[in-house]
Amino acid sequence: MEQAKEKEWGKATKALHVGYIPGKTDMNLFRSYATPLIESAIYPLTDIDQYTRIVQGLEPGYDYGRNSNPTVDVLQKRLAALEGGERCLVTPSGMHAVFLLTSHFARPGDEFVTSYNIFGEAYDFFFHWGPEHMGIKPRLVKNPGDLKDWERQITPKTRFIWAETPSNPTLFVTDIAGLAELAHAHNLPLIVDNTLVTPYLQNPLKLGADVVVLSLTKFLVGNGTVVGGAIIGKDELIRELVSDIAHVGAIGSPFDAWLVLLSLETLPLRMARHSSNAEKVAAFLAQHPKVSRVNYPSVPDYPQRELAKRQMPNGFGGLLSFVVEGGKEGAIKVTNALKLITIVPSFGTSRTIVTHPATHTHCNMKPEEREAVGIYDGLLRLSVGLEDPEDIIADLEQALDKV
Ligand code: PLP
Repeated sequence: MEQAKEKEWGKATKALHVGYIPGKTDMNLFRSYATPLIESAIYPLTDIDQYTRIVQGLEPGYDYGRNSNPTVDVLQKRLAALEGGERCLVTPSGMHAVFLLTSHFARPGDEFVTSYNIFGEAYDFFFHWGPEHMGIKPRLVKNPGDLKDWERQITPKTRFIWAETPSNPTLFVTDIAGLAELAHAHNLPLIVDNTLVTPYLQNPLKLGADVVVLSLTKFLVGNGTVVGGAIIGKDELIRELVSDIAHVGAIGSPFDAWLVLLSLETLPLRMARHSSNAEKVAAFLAQHPKVSRVNYPSVPDYPQRELAKRQMPNGFGGLLSFVVEGGKEGAIKVTNALKLITIVPSFGTSRTIVTHPATHTHCNMKPEEREAVGIYDGLLRLSVGLEDPEDIIADLEQALDKV
């Protein structure tokens, strides 16, 4: 990391400067204040031996657009710095990062340990597509609040432990430090999906996790323009993953990386505002007679408040979920009545959006599997945006009146 002073920079400074400081890096040839967008898939060599020097790491440089690009590299450095990791690989989607990590750590016949507190596509990949196509099987932790339950699922075939915390869509919080200790006692890596709150609010690596996976599609780009993912971990692991990706895909595109870099400049401001808006909306929903439950760590009856505060001391992010009276019918009435809030099966944008997990993101789960993790038919997921909080609350209030 290029750093002008001895003391480690704060996250706001890192989000603005790591990887490209105008006037102070090799890309300064362009005299560009903005990070240059190098939309080139191939790189000329000074001599035929330069390729070997570059791929062996003896000389800095870029070999081929499938594996490396200067603009993507700036984003990789910036995300690694924000997560407090050694190195980062930017992937074309968060899901591609999930696939890469699974295929990297496990082989046909191997297993890994996880719970149902994961986003819908990961559920489908881990529990159906992966076992069928790759022969890699999950072992299910039914009570993820109990570390002993995680330990009981570890077998000689286990290759990694996977946790998404806080989880989509019910904000279940897993004890990262406790799980890391358990994983390491069994010589296993702990992989944590940090998408919901972003590295601005939580750093799993600092709590003991070995690998962080991120979807850039959500709060990191923050405006619904890009699909992207990232993996952050030890230098050696990321080098191996770069070699894997050369066989099964490519790194994220330079243009998408460039858009995410623009967004990262405001990440600290956005996440602080998402968190404070979500807290206000959660407090409104928690006292509403038509709402039976609110999943957000600031509400009084949230069961994992202390753990959530320990892992996310500066806020809990912009995602919450709540259960409306009347099951699916109630959820339909509320969403159809919303005027400001848009129905979108995603989250993490500046504008507030609502999703119905049972029929959108988690529709591939069996009803009993959904119920087991609190994804009831009346559950709505709300990605609280950056609007004036009174306007978000007023829209919800008039829509809940229709139930
Ligand atoms: N991680 C979480 C928590 C998600 O919710 C998602 C997508 O919904 C992903 C990862 C996958 O990211 P992408 O949509 O970029 O493939």
